[in-house]
Amino acid sequence: MHPRKPIYEGKAKQLFEGPEPGTLIQHFKDDATAFNSVKKGTISGKGVLNNRISEHLMLRLGEIGIPTHFIRSLNMREQLVKAVQIIPLEVVVRNVAAGSFAKRFGVEEGKPLAQPILEFFLKDDKLGDPLVNEDHIFAFQWASPHDIDDIRLMALRANDFLTGLFLGVGIRLVDFKLEFGRLFDGTQERIILADEISPDNCRLWDAKTGEKLDKDRFRFDLGAVEEGYREVARRLGVLPAAEQHDIAAFAALSETKH
Ligand code: UDP
Repeated sequence: MHPRKPIYEGKAKQLFEGPEPGTLIQHFKDDATAFNSVKKGTISGKGVLNNRISEHLMLRLGEIGIPTHFIRSLNMREQLVKAVQIIPLEVVVRNVAAGSFAKRFGVEEGKPLAQPILEFFLKDDKLGDPLVNEDHIFAFQWASPHDIDDIRLMALRANDFLTGLFLGVGIRLVDFKLEFGRLFDGTQERIILADEISPDNCRLWDAKTGEKLDKDRFRFDLGAVEEGYREVARRLGVLPAAEQHDIAAFAALSETKH
């Protein structure tokens, strides 16, 4: 096997050079960070689950016409993606007040918003990812007004679709973060959805009980972090076969105990 050329290492993922020009291998790690890396840890099995969950959600979004970087799954922790130039913005869509938003506006966590709210944060860890508006984006030329129109449409469409998809499996999509990239093919340049969509960057609450099934379990030491991620994968029907076996073994074990 040839050693692969590492391109970039982030907090939860690593990128390697892909087998064909214009492709990258996206590798999902078990590492987790929160509060701008002040809190660090690992969530055993997270990479495998996020790889599957993100693949599933990107494919479903692709089917409704939202272009994404996903090409195909390679193995339990890796997927082949299109190489893009990442736009340095974290695009957050919110349906319900939570996290930093609830704090910033002094509203109770869990309060539904009258309409979805889109927020942009500059992707810059050293600056602590500050909230920015369109004037900042245009003045610093991180993206053009046309780019932002495209991003807004794709983010809101993804929100409508994912809200329904998650509700169908008993999960409330509270908020989530997207990243977009520029794809250059020939003379054309277009913006596509990149990065990942997983419980690392979504707030997902059980629709009935309100139980958190996402990274807030890690952020706030709520315990059973991996179980939350696994439950999301299970409800979406994408639990890896090995994990299904674990669950079946676990169910058999608890039956014999009763
Ligand atoms: N988020 C993310 N990466 C970040 C910051 C936020 O993926 O660097 C996600 C987070 O998981 C949540 C949404 O974006 O689903 C909104 O997060 P918020 O702004 O409330 O920040 P937090 O409370 O997580 O600091």
